Amino acid sequence: MKNRFWFIPLLLSPRLIREWLVVVRREGHYQGRWKVTKQLWVAGWSLVIRGAVTRSKWEARLRVCEECPVFDSTTKTCGPFLGSPLGCHCYREYLCLEKKPYPRGCWIRHHLSKMALGWD
Ligand code: SF4
Repeated sequence: MKNRFWFIPLLLSPRLIREWLVVVRREGHYQGRWKVTKQLWVAGWSLVIRGAVTRSKWEARLRVCEECPVFDSTTKTCGPFLGSPLGCHCYREYLCLEKKPYPRGCWIRHHLSKMALGWD
């Protein structure tokens, strides 16, 4: 039987939390330690309740992002730079856990669906 909570170690990983905080700060969303802790808890519980994608799908999505023109590999962000109108500006490792961030999939798949970029 598959473990539907396989992603919980990712939510608790100090390395991933540190990387996520870099993105939160880059995007100007850091409002203090307690607010970001609450934000992570809410997002984590939301994933536990709604469910995340499978590990194999998550890993496949990570690879798709690596090839995406709007991906910032330095911070692992969906968005090339702060203030860019391209991308959703989320931290990839957590974003790729979501079943459908947009109705058609990820940001680029949703907005430029004819170009066969991104993931669904
Ligand atoms: S648009 Fe999609 S494929 Fe591109 S970086 Fe964002 S999540 Fe990844």
